[in-house]
Amino acid sequence: MKKYLVKPETKVKLAKWDPNDMGDFKGGKEEGLALLEKLNARLEMLQEVLFAEHKHKVLVILQAMDTGGKDGVIRRVFDRVNPAGVRVASFKAPTAEELDHDFLWRIHKQVPAKGEMVIFNRSHYEDVLVVRVHNYVPPEVWGRRFDQINQFERTLAENGTTILKFYLHIDLDEQKERLQARLDDPAKRWKFRLGDLEERKFWPDYMNAFEDVLGKTSTAYAPWYIIPANRKWFRDLVISSVLVDTLEGLKMNYPESEEDLSGVVIE
Ligand code: ATP
Ligand code: MG
Repeated sequence: MKKYLVKPETKVKLAKWDPNDMGDFKGGKEEGLALLEKLNARLEMLQEVLFAEHKHKVLVILQAMDTGGKDGVIRRVFDRVNPAGVRVASFKAPTAEELDHDFLWRIHKQVPAKGEMVIFNRSHYEDVLVVRVHNYVPPEVWGRRFDQINQFERTLAENGTTILKFYLHIDLDEQKERLQARLDDPAKRWKFRLGDLEERKFWPDYMNAFEDVLGKTSTAYAPWYIIPANRKWFRDLVISSVLVDTLEGLKMNYPESEEDLSGVVIE
C-alpha cells in the first residue's frame, strides 16, 4: 500500500497516477470483495480496542471530485464499526457564521476525541480547492493556507491524533459514467446536482489544485494516499488495508479494569 502514499515534498503529476491501477493484486472483483470483508472485520476489532483504550484519536479525511466515491467508502469500508465510537463530519459550503471565522474554526470543532474515529467527508482542503478554483479569496489568502493546514495537522498529531488522508482518484470518463448513472437511476437521482456539471468544466483547474494539495500537505504526521478509484471495490480494498495497517501500528490494548478483580466470584 506504500505505493499509493505521497512522499513529503514531492511534485505530484496526477496524469502519472492510474485511476485503474491494481498494484500487485492479481485477483478480480470477487476475490477483492472477499478480502475486503476480512479487512473490515479486522477494522471492526481494531476500532473496538481504540474505543476501549480511550487513548488514541483517529481522523480519516476523504477528498475527491464529484462522484469520486466518498459516500461509497463511508458505507463500504466502515460497514462493521461501532457507531458509538465513529462519526462522520460532512463539510458543505460554509454558513455566514462560519465565513465570519477563520477557515479552520468549523473544522477544529469536529476533530476526534480520545477513543474516537472521525471521517471527514470533504474538509479544510476545500479551502484550497473549490475556493481557489473559483477565486472566492485572493491567491495570497489561499496560498498561505498550505502552511496553516500543515501546522494545524501537526498540532492534532502531536496531541495524539493519527491522521490519514485519501484522495479518491477517478478520471473524467468515469465521472461521466457515474453522473449519467445518477441521472438515469431514480435511486441515485437525488444525488445529481446541475452544479456538478458546471464543476466538471473546471476539471483541469481542480487537478492542478489537487496536485498542489497532495504535493504540499503530505507529511509524515498526516500523509496523503492517492487511491485508484475507478474500480470501487479496489478503492475500498486499498483504504481498508491502509486503515488496518495503520491502526495495527498503534499497538493498542484493551485496558485493565480500574478495580481489583482478582478473586471475584459471581454468585
Ligand atoms: P458531496 O458532493 O460531498 O457528496 P452533497 O452532494 O450532499 O455532498 P453538495 O452541496 O453538492 O452536497 O456538496 C458540498 C459542496 O460544498 C461542494 O460543492 C463543496 O465544494 C462545497 N464546499 C465545501 N466546503 C467549502 C468551502 N470551504 N468553501 C466553499 N464551498 C465549499
Ligand atoms: Mg455533490
